Amino acid sequence: MVAHPYAGERIGLATIHAKERAIAPPFRRLLGAKIVVAPNLDTDTLGTFTGEVPRPDALVETSLLKAELAFRSMDIDCAIASEGSYGPIDRLPLVAGGLEIMAFVDRRRGIRLVETLTTHRTNWQNLMSFEVGDPAVPQAVKSLGFPDFGVFVIRGSVGGHTVKDLMTLDDVIAAVDREARLSEDGKAVVVADMRAHRNPTRMKVLRALAWKLARRLATLCPKCKAPGFGHLMSPRGLPCENCGEPTHWIDFEIDGCASCGHAIARPRKDGRRAAPRLSCRACRD
Ligand SMILES: [Zn+2]
Ligand SMILES: [Zn+2]
Repeated sequence: MVAHPYAGERIGLATIHAKERAIAPPFRRLLGAKIVVAPNLDTDTLGTFTGEVPRPDALVETSLLKAELAFRSMDIDCAIASEGSYGPIDRLPLVAGGLEIMAFVDRRRGIRLVETLTTHRTNWQNLMSFEVGDPAVPQAVKSLGFPDFGVFVIRGSVGGHTVKDLMTLDDVIAAVDREARLSEDGKAVVVADMRAHRNPTRMKVLRALAWKLARRLATLCPKCKAPGFGHLMSPRGLPCENCGEPTHWIDFEIDGCASCGHAIARPRKDGRRAAPRLSCRACRD
């Protein structure tokens, strides 16, 4: 067996939230690579959980930029960073969900890869606001999973000074009372702390995503042997079984190399060569 190109390689990780706990094991076990946390980083300057949900393409860009931050402080060729976004799901306002994005950059081989994972597993909830002395605080905080899961207390109901790293229920209650008293509208807001090291569910999702990324990197390009050969796109247009016109169904899959551009088309996994007539606009009408 030939060693993987990343065996023994140090891969920088831009995180201040202990994400190495999720990312190091698959990279060690599948590639033999060592994840090293980049020193002196303030990745929060690139965006934090503020309740706003950025567009996915903005998240991809941010995670690639964040990965490249690691090159400033470390003598390495490869780096990883991740970004997450949690909030209400479109069309289902009471159901929360999340999107996690993990970016990998190998600046020597010119590889830039992004893997994503969507999840319904989250303790994220809509903002809960309280006035001084509100007796509902302990139950609300418990519903967020505290103390195993962290919570933030925010001054005022439109966002303001944020209190982090609260360790006991008494600390949370005291912070709610203090921030409500100091706010202009007499309210303080409690939200889930979505930072990975204070959110075990998020850490679990990151672990699954890290395995996905490491598995992809474990696959080498059949032509140039660069890591990361895998799924690139799924062109639509599977022909209708009745009239042969293209439908919105996926026609075939394309796997490709992020380094040399080599690509291979492969048929659908389910072996379908035609789409049902019900999916055809021409035949359905
Ligand atoms: Zn048709
Ligand atoms: Zn290649």
